[in-house]
Amino acid sequence: MADPSAPEAGELVPYGYAPGSYYVTCGECKEKFIGDKRAARCRACAAMRKLAETEKRLAEAQEALRVIATQSVYEDDEYRYQLQDMIDAAREVAEDALRSAATSGKGE
Ligand SMILES: [Zn+2]
Repeated sequence: MADPSAPEAGELVPYGYAPGSYYVTCGECKEKFIGDKRAARCRACAAMRKLAETEKRLAEAQEALRVIATQSVYEDDEYRYQLQDMIDAAREVAEDALRSAATSGKGE
Protein backbone atom coordinates (compact mmCIF):
# COMPACT_ATOMS: atom_id res chain seq x y z
CA MET A 1 0.00 0.00 0.00
CA ALA A 2 1.67 3.17 -1.22
CA ASP A 3 -0.12 5.84 0.77
CA PRO A 4 -2.35 4.56 3.55
CA SER A 5 -3.98 7.97 4.05
CA ALA A 6 -5.02 8.41 0.39
CA PRO A 7 -8.55 7.29 -0.58
CA GLU A 8 -8.63 3.61 -1.48
CA ALA A 9 -9.44 3.04 -5.17
CA GLY A 10 -12.47 1.05 -4.05
CA GLU A 11 -13.84 4.09 -2.20
CA LEU A 12 -13.85 6.02 -5.48
CA VAL A 13 -15.96 3.54 -7.48
CA PRO A 14 -19.21 5.34 -6.54
CA TYR A 15 -17.60 8.54 -7.85
CA GLY A 16 -16.69 7.16 -11.26
CA TYR A 17 -13.16 5.82 -10.90
CA ALA A 18 -12.16 2.16 -10.82
CA PRO A 19 -8.68 0.72 -11.25
CA GLY A 20 -7.92 -1.29 -14.34
CA SER A 21 -5.58 -1.59 -17.30
CA TYR A 22 -7.49 0.33 -19.99
CA TYR A 23 -6.42 3.64 -21.46
CA VAL A 24 -9.55 5.78 -21.08
CA THR A 25 -10.47 9.47 -21.22
CA CYS A 26 -11.82 11.21 -18.13
CA GLY A 27 -15.30 12.63 -18.76
CA GLU A 28 -14.52 15.59 -16.55
CA CYS A 29 -10.97 16.84 -17.20
CA LYS A 30 -10.61 15.01 -20.57
CA GLU A 31 -7.20 13.67 -19.54
CA LYS A 32 -6.19 10.13 -20.51
CA PHE A 33 -5.70 7.74 -17.63
CA ILE A 34 -5.28 4.04 -16.91
CA GLY A 35 -8.32 2.52 -15.29
CA ASP A 36 -11.31 0.26 -15.69
CA LYS A 37 -12.81 0.47 -19.21
CA ARG A 38 -16.12 1.61 -17.67
CA ALA A 39 -14.50 4.25 -15.44
CA ALA A 40 -16.08 7.64 -16.14
CA ARG A 41 -13.49 9.75 -14.32
CA CYS A 42 -9.81 9.74 -13.50
CA ARG A 43 -8.78 9.15 -9.92
CA ALA A 44 -8.17 12.84 -9.18
CA CYS A 45 -11.60 13.89 -10.50
CA ALA A 46 -13.30 11.05 -8.60
CA ALA A 47 -11.49 12.15 -5.43
CA MET A 48 -12.74 15.71 -6.03
CA ARG A 49 -16.29 14.37 -6.38
CA LYS A 50 -15.88 12.50 -3.13
CA LEU A 51 -14.69 15.68 -1.42
CA ALA A 52 -17.62 17.65 -2.87
CA GLU A 53 -20.00 14.99 -1.54
CA THR A 54 -18.32 15.22 1.86
CA GLU A 55 -18.72 19.00 1.87
CA LYS A 56 -22.40 18.62 0.96
CA ARG A 57 -22.93 16.21 3.84
CA LEU A 58 -21.09 18.56 6.18
CA ALA A 59 -23.36 21.41 5.09
CA GLU A 60 -26.40 19.21 5.77
CA ALA A 61 -25.02 18.30 9.16
CA GLN A 62 -24.41 21.97 9.98
CA GLU A 63 -28.00 22.69 9.01
CA ALA A 64 -29.15 19.95 11.39
CA LEU A 65 -27.07 21.49 14.17
CA ARG A 66 -28.57 24.89 13.39
CA VAL A 67 -32.05 23.38 13.71
CA ILE A 68 -31.13 21.91 17.08
CA ALA A 69 -29.81 25.26 18.23
CA THR A 70 -32.87 27.22 17.16
CA GLN A 71 -35.73 24.86 17.95
CA SER A 72 -36.99 23.17 21.02
CA VAL A 73 -37.15 19.59 19.83
CA TYR A 74 -36.46 17.69 23.00
CA GLU A 75 -40.08 16.79 23.69
CA ASP A 76 -40.10 14.59 20.61
CA ASP A 77 -37.91 11.57 21.36
CA GLU A 78 -37.98 10.15 17.85
CA TYR A 79 -36.82 13.44 16.34
CA ARG A 80 -34.15 13.73 19.01
CA TYR A 81 -32.75 10.31 18.11
CA GLN A 82 -32.75 11.21 14.42
CA LEU A 83 -30.80 14.38 15.20
CA GLN A 84 -28.37 12.44 17.37
CA ASP A 85 -27.74 10.10 14.43
CA MET A 86 -27.12 13.12 12.20
CA ILE A 87 -24.69 14.58 14.73
CA ASP A 88 -22.80 11.27 14.93
CA ALA A 89 -22.70 11.06 11.13
CA ALA A 90 -21.51 14.67 10.93
CA ARG A 91 -18.69 13.93 13.33
CA GLU A 92 -17.57 10.97 11.20
CA VAL A 93 -17.79 13.05 8.02
CA ALA A 94 -15.82 15.87 9.62
CA GLU A 95 -13.06 13.51 10.77
CA ASP A 96 -12.95 11.90 7.33
CA ALA A 97 -12.82 15.33 5.65
CA LEU A 98 -9.98 16.43 7.90
CA ARG A 99 -8.02 13.30 6.99
CA SER A 100 -8.69 13.92 3.26
CA ALA A 101 -7.66 17.56 3.59
CA ALA A 102 -4.44 16.57 5.34
CA THR A 103 -3.73 14.12 2.52
CA SER A 104 -4.48 16.45 -0.41
CA GLY A 105 -2.74 19.39 1.26
CA LYS A 106 0.68 17.92 0.70
CA GLY A 107 0.35 18.28 -3.13
CA GLU A 108 0.50 22.02 -3.69
ZN1 LIG B 1 -10.24 13.75 -14.60
